[in-house]
Amino acid sequence: MTLHLTDTHCHIHEALAPVNMSDQMRRLPDPRHSIQDALDAGVDRMICVGTTVEDSVLAVQFAQDQPHVWASIGIHPHEASKYMDNPLALQKFAALATQSQVVAVGECGLDYFYTHSPKGDQERILRFQLELAQKHGLPLIFHVRDAFDDFWPIFDEYQGLRGVIHSFSATEKELAQILKRDVYVGLNGIMTFTKKPAQLDAARAVPLDRLLLETDAPFLTPAPYRGSICEPKHVRVTAEFLANARREPLEQLADATTSNAERLFKLKDN
Ligand SMILES: [Zn+2]
Repeated sequence: MTLHLTDTHCHIHEALAPVNMSDQMRRLPDPRHSIQDALDAGVDRMICVGTTVEDSVLAVQFAQDQPHVWASIGIHPHEASKYMDNPLALQKFAALATQSQVVAVGECGLDYFYTHSPKGDQERILRFQLELAQKHGLPLIFHVRDAFDDFWPIFDEYQGLRGVIHSFSATEKELAQILKRDVYVGLNGIMTFTKKPAQLDAARAVPLDRLLLETDAPFLTPAPYRGSICEPKHVRVTAEFLANARREPLEQLADATTSNAERLFKLKDN
């Protein structure tokens, strides 16, 4: 069966970072090999997602070099404090929005689980990115952890925003809030190993026309491959798991999630 799956959220470009690489990043596979393995598994579209200004530059360069790859530019809520007094870095970041292959802004959002940056800093950097996306008509990739109550009132202040809640792992209550807006739900390997029935109930309840698949590679490797580094090819395992859990034919799930990704991110073959 020929499938056409899309990994709407990965960080494989980080293996190419020249400096400040953590030991984990040093062990990442060559991203060009990851792309080939993904193609062999039927995953033929990938979005590389930035988490800092430098990392976003890298994602854009990588996407411009590689077929099958697009980029999203983002400042992760963990990194917000770093940019509070750095207007030049933010200016450089904003200029990336018009580069070729850039299809989204994010990952951005609020993370109150770790709160690596103070809440006020997170909000300011989130608003900066909401305004950038609005100005350029780009969709957003959101990271929201334990922070939906603060997130939605901010989101609702802006007109015409579209996007995805990436790595969704909350319950049907949070899902209902998403479905009221022009926002998609991104599911990844967490679903294959979660022990929380409420997370799976929510995953089953996502309407097919609002569902996106992702890996968050190199993190969140799906079962039964826990312990190995996650790569875009693993979207297939998550797709198989979800097709089974949602009682949908795999091909239908693949086709729908890929056309959802094409619609949200306006992916054109490159
Ligand atoms: Zn991510």
